[in-house]
Amino acid sequence: MEFTSTRDDALRVGIEQALNSGLAPDGGLYVPTRLPDFDPAGFEPGLGLPECALQALAPYFDGSSLAARLDAICREAFDIPLPVTRLDDAGPAWMLELFHGPTAAFKDFAARFLAGCLAALHDRAGPDRTVLVATSGDTGAAVAAAFHDRPGFRVVVLYPDRRVSARQAHQLGAFGGNVHTYRVQGDFDDCQRLVKQALADRRLAARLGLTSANSISIGRLLPQTAYYAQASLRLVPGATGGGPIDVIVPTGNLGNALACIVARESGFAIGEIWLATNANRTLPEYFESGRYRGRAGIRTLANAMDVGDPSNFERLEWLYRVLKSGDDPRASRIGAESIDDETIRATIRDEFERHDRIVCPHTACAMALLGRLRKRGHDRPVLVAATAHPAKFETVIEPVVGRTIEPPEALAELLGRPSRADSLEPDYDALVRALDGLANNPANR
Ligand SMILES: *Cc1c(COP(=O)(O)O)cnc(C)c1O
Repeated sequence: MEFTSTRDDALRVGIEQALNSGLAPDGGLYVPTRLPDFDPAGFEPGLGLPECALQALAPYFDGSSLAARLDAICREAFDIPLPVTRLDDAGPAWMLELFHGPTAAFKDFAARFLAGCLAALHDRAGPDRTVLVATSGDTGAAVAAAFHDRPGFRVVVLYPDRRVSARQAHQLGAFGGNVHTYRVQGDFDDCQRLVKQALADRRLAARLGLTSANSISIGRLLPQTAYYAQASLRLVPGATGGGPIDVIVPTGNLGNALACIVARESGFAIGEIWLATNANRTLPEYFESGRYRGRAGIRTLANAMDVGDPSNFERLEWLYRVLKSGDDPRASRIGAESIDDETIRATIRDEFERHDRIVCPHTACAMALLGRLRKRGHDRPVLVAATAHPAKFETVIEPVVGRTIEPPEALAELLGRPSRADSLEPDYDALVRALDGLANNPANR
């Protein structure tokens, strides 16, 4: 399979280059030149996640040097439990629990897959590579965990100071070794802008062997299609009674939800896809008006979704304009709705009081949207993507439910370690100085 750029349909690169460089040379995002055409009947019933991922991802790697290693990469990356639990709700509904990986958020799947690919592509004799990642909280930890102690890689994490939870901040600075963490004095969009600028800076990228691990990397997007594929195979037709499953995805940068859209458009039995955003209304407004207006992100309780200019929007637009020959995404069974902080709190409280279930603030957005859909008479089977373990957002949840939340084991282990993050101004020259400083420090070799 070949890959092109959202900004230049004439570009053609193999998946190796798309993975290695993160961003296309013209500043666009890499996208596959076509989508696979799967028949769910071609997947063996009861297929495990790593096996399903191998089958669902193989077409993208066809003809590449990674094809022969894809099996091993999938076995390692997707070795994470993936429960699909029944929700007692007004209609048939399930929760896809994506938070049982080492850093307790869905991003573990894709970060581990990308790390496996980049490690397989890395020339051990060559210079070290620098993985640069902007995070609104969870990406940085997932990427750091996935690359921690991998020889030949250095990880640089940028997160917006004071805009992540105390546990998230601790976790981000707790890896040590080849992971370097900076608290940027700005918001997530500043972090993201710095990363994009660095990746587009060819001299810097070459000097530091820079690559991205943000959701702008195609190596993050593709593996996320695998869990939607497997969930649809598990639920359709048995549990749904034949029809496809509608999916609600908590959405910030549109990486996770776009993977769900790609899974549907490549043949898996997924029906409507609903994007649940927090008070950042860029996507809901786009789906209402057809006009896209990126802006600065505003702070909410669901901080991993505090995004005002979702980086993957460019891919969504491209997908429909080019691969779906100009279809309007808004006419393609995709909806988006915004959930405010008050509703997030009310939903967390309600889930706890009525169902004895504690959901993270992001998952609460999706649960609130499920409630709205049911009120409007939507009664078809729905899958809710649960994106993080509630223990990562204890500062939001504990006051609402009035009890403490124990972190899962892996998270507890990180929280027990010392943590360190240096302050960084939201300024490109400051970032370049920091990166060069790390690369030139023999202690970091
Ligand atoms: C990153 C994240 C999201 C948003 O995912 P996108 O792919 O950016 O849309 C939602 N919930 C949690 C817990 C996250 O960490």
